[in-house]
Amino acid sequence: MQAPPPPPTSSTPTKPCRHCRTPIDPKADRCPFCRSWQRRPFWKNPTVMIVVLGSAAIVALTVISIVFADRLSPFRTMFPKREDFSRYRHRVRIVDASMTSDEFHVLVLGWIQNDSPLGWEHIQLEALFRDARGNVIDTASESFSSLRVPAGQKVAFKLSTIRAATSHDPYHSFEVRIVSADQVRDWP
Ligand SMILES: [Zn+2]
Repeated sequence: MQAPPPPPTSSTPTKPCRHCRTPIDPKADRCPFCRSWQRRPFWKNPTVMIVVLGSAAIVALTVISIVFADRLSPFRTMFPKREDFSRYRHRVRIVDASMTSDEFHVLVLGWIQNDSPLGWEHIQLEALFRDARGNVIDTASESFSSLRVPAGQKVAFKLSTIRAATSHDPYHSFEVRIVSADQVRDWP
């Protein structure tokens, strides 16, 4: 049986054994008296714990945000998706449109009636002009960047164009339609 080594003198630095509390060399891996290991198990290391718990939290938050994305995402209310105008097209109509023309110009006046629950802006209008036989003889297209039609309201527009040089026939009839529009977004 091996005799235990003498305890360190009081002048050398010591630390208590983790198991038996006897003062031992701070660098000792094992206590020379009770033979117990002095280093902490790796899972009690604070750095390891932070990494393990942090990774677990990230995984958990990722899973939660995927599963509950619709309900939890704060970005959904901060940056709501713009509605597609094509879904509301049938409720945004051109009403009471009329055409006037002279030798050089064609003018279409009318109103945009918005019966949809959303406001629309950046409205692009397109007009087709036909002769007496129904052939399309001219078109006009204009994007109204400053035209804004609130929900439930009616807003006037004016679409003007220079007559096509090749057409000598009178502008007999016309059609005007809304090509596209952007949903009005009120920033907080
Ligand atoms: Zn010990």
